[in-house]
Amino acid sequence: MAQACIFCEIAKGNIPSEIVYRDQRVFAIKDIAPRAPIHILVIPVEHEVEISGIRPSDESVLGHTIEVAGMIAKSQGLLESGYRLVVNQGEDANQTVAHLHVHLLGGRKLGPEG
Ligand code: 5GP
Ligand code: ZN
Repeated sequence: MAQACIFCEIAKGNIPSEIVYRDQRVFAIKDIAPRAPIHILVIPVEHEVEISGIRPSDESVLGHTIEVAGMIAKSQGLLESGYRLVVNQGEDANQTVAHLHVHLLGGRKLGPEG
């Protein structure tokens, strides 16, 4: 049996989560273990495992994911202070959920990447 994916289960409503945005292609939730005052995950609904698996047909949804992240950053009042978008890929980046997603981090001065 295929291993259940947490984000697919959240997308289907099978695992509860604080959803801050949703449309047909993308949804956004508050991270369960926030590392900044604002820590939101912007997640394409369709399960895509890794960046190297992205196909040309995924470009539109990935562009939309970044667009939504920017929209949420604005609605969270982060335009002036700034914020960071992060995609973790693989073990060295400490990726824990194998469903491509973008972290939106802000609300405090962030350290250097890495
Ligand atoms: P990654 O480490 O793969 O880049 O990010 C996965 C993120 O998902 C982590 O920051 C982790 O805290 C978050 N996360 C894991 N399980 C859940 C969950 O069930 N609900 C929510 N809202 N976030 C989760
Ligand atoms: Zn998934």
